[in-house]
Amino acid sequence: MSGSILIVGSVAFDSVKTPFGEEDDIFGGTATYSSVSASFFSPVRLVAVVGDDFGEKEMDVFRKHKVDTEGLTRMPGKTFRWKGEYGYDLNEARTLDTQLNVFEKFDPVIPEQYRSSEYVFLGNIDPDLQLSVLQQIKRPRIVACDSMNYWIKGKPEAVKRTFSHVDIVVINEAETRMLANESNLVRAANKILAMGPKTLIVKRGEYGVLMFNGTSVFAAPAFPLEDVFDPTGAGDSFAGGFMGALAQEGTVNERAFRRGIIYGSVMASFNVEQFGLKRLTGLTRSDIDSRFYQFKALTHFEEL
Ligand code: AMP
Repeated sequence: MSGSILIVGSVAFDSVKTPFGEEDDIFGGTATYSSVSASFFSPVRLVAVVGDDFGEKEMDVFRKHKVDTEGLTRMPGKTFRWKGEYGYDLNEARTLDTQLNVFEKFDPVIPEQYRSSEYVFLGNIDPDLQLSVLQQIKRPRIVACDSMNYWIKGKPEAVKRTFSHVDIVVINEAETRMLANESNLVRAANKILAMGPKTLIVKRGEYGVLMFNGTSVFAAPAFPLEDVFDPTGAGDSFAGGFMGALAQEGTVNERAFRRGIIYGSVMASFNVEQFGLKRLTGLTRSDIDSRFYQFKALTHFEEL
């Protein structure tokens, strides 16, 4: 039986511009992308906050994916808003505006029935909120955590404190270098492992993913795609697929982590094919599994 995943992060309205199009106020956020992605594998419990501009249309997305929204708080004010743009190099988002809104006063209280969740994903939000969520959970099996340049620049000590309490850190390449203050990625990875987590997963956009655990390194390419429209949420779809696959399998070891990385990469590859959540919300489990096997073929080789 698969374990439940507790996911905390932002639920947002995003305005996104890529070289292929532009959309304003579309449903997004780190917890949204990761919850929808993880829901294809395991039951998801969401902890986040929204404002009074959050409507039934958005709730329907969570309902469709059977995301438990008992931990979704509604506060007076506006939902978190992020505005970003991508150039032809789709690997790096340029943040144009961040409005924390209801996140400024959010103090997450984890519902009693969520506290024994075995799998926890701390999506990118204020690192102090991530830690406060973690302190309310009883002995999870695996805690993974994301962050971003916004927090690494603004609250580096809080980011490090949160990372010291988690099993897996999942961040992108630029953030790895920034947090470690080191340009060589391997050295930077080792510096982050020295902060406490047992595993570091570095997301490298169209170049795939590297996983470091201090003794071995695992590399996965990104799935080669002809149509990439919007990279927003790729990192969170990755993390959701990774945690979802782990929770579904129920084992915690290197083999399960590697399979999780491929499921995560599959989810990220679907996510970028259309704007916002469009592609993810239209998927079936058989679409996912068939791309997983294509992935296996993509990276298979034999010794002489
Ligand atoms: P990614 O998977 O890294 O592309 O994350 C994209 C999501 O991150 C967007 O849907 C944004 O709403 C969300 N986001 C951007 N900046 C922040 C922030 N400072 N805190 C929380 N969420 C954010």
